Amino acid sequence: TPVLAERMSRVKESPSSRVADRVRAFQAAGRKVLPLTIGEPDFDTPDHVKDAAIKAIREGETKYTSANGTPALQKSIISRLERKTGQSYGTGEICLGGGAKQLIFLAFVATLDEGDEVIVPAPYWVSYPDMVTVNGGRPVVVDTTAADGYKLTPGGLRAALGDRTKWVVLNTPNNPTGAVYSEEELRQLADVLRAHPHVSLLCDEIYDEINFGADPVPSAVTVAPDLRDRIFLVNGVSKAYAMTGWRIGYGAGAAPLCAAIGTLQSQSSSCPSSVSQAAAVAALDGGREFIDRTVRIYRERRDLLVSGLDAIEGLRPSVPRGGFYVWTDASALTGAVTPSGSTITSDADFAGHLLETSGVVVITGDAYGCPGHFRASFALDSDTIREAVSGLAHSVSLLR
Ligand code: PLP
Repeated sequence: TPVLAERMSRVKESPSSRVADRVRAFQAAGRKVLPLTIGEPDFDTPDHVKDAAIKAIREGETKYTSANGTPALQKSIISRLERKTGQSYGTGEICLGGGAKQLIFLAFVATLDEGDEVIVPAPYWVSYPDMVTVNGGRPVVVDTTAADGYKLTPGGLRAALGDRTKWVVLNTPNNPTGAVYSEEELRQLADVLRAHPHVSLLCDEIYDEINFGADPVPSAVTVAPDLRDRIFLVNGVSKAYAMTGWRIGYGAGAAPLCAAIGTLQSQSSSCPSSVSQAAAVAALDGGREFIDRTVRIYRERRDLLVSGLDAIEGLRPSVPRGGFYVWTDASALTGAVTPSGSTITSDADFAGHLLETSGVVVITGDAYGCPGHFRASFALDSDTIREAVSGLAHSVSLLR
């Protein structure tokens, strides 16, 4: 057996994949499960996107492309960025990945030296800390509070900054909390960063189209265009267009960073799939009908899930402004006793109790750096959401 590299001790399997495996194992054993764990749209990829992919296959767009994407896709990305941020990016300021996830990983490979620090506000998307550590960096986790809407404050940022800080990661809308940073909040954070020229901002905007607010989700680069070279925007087609399996993500930022990511891409995968790139062009250029329709449905489901959770004593859900997750404070149930006489002392105890008594599966807060909470997805049909809420209510009612 080849001996694994030391860096493998600094990375673990994504908790979401682990939970998905557990759900499959339970189902295979014939047990009913209600998975509120789903991290991807349950809608099908729109037909016009599929048609574009089929056309690309038929017309021979089946070869390697440039590492940072076909000219057609670069053009679509640049237009989308201009619509969102008002900034016009050049092709050298665009990079492409097999998903936003791979791009974030490559950005860390490209920039982190041993001991460099990355500020990660908690609750955080499960992958950021591992992506930092496996690349030799050190995640500096900054806890946020419900009172601050689970958002990094200027004071919190200032206190976490140091000589070794390379990045601050902002995820807006946030997975798992659904928090969206306002223009004013972004401006205040940018004001702090202006005084620290060695620090860059990685903005993960993958959920920006799944937006329940009246206005579009603001981007840091819009409020601080002077920091444009220090802001790396990350987005993709996975969530907005129900294209998680197509694996296309994109980034926009300083040309040397994008070139470095392109170099890494060229030496690791050559390029993301040419067929998926053609599909992504159709998605980005295809108008808002799909997004508007699905966001209307997400909104109904969100309201259903939030009101259902809110009615359960001991649970305090926050109302998400974007994304498709409800973040719920369940800390009031710590110390409660199950019918079999065991005390709930950890997130694992709570998750185990839910699974045993109602088959409901959630991803608990410890995975996001914030124990005592859980994330429940509403990328599910309303009947399943209703059934899961009843299940949760039953499980919680059994606790003493
Ligand atoms: N960023 C966040 C916050 C996510 O939740 C996800 C997917 O779960 C991603 C990035 C990855 O998206 P992609 O499918 O484009 O790799």
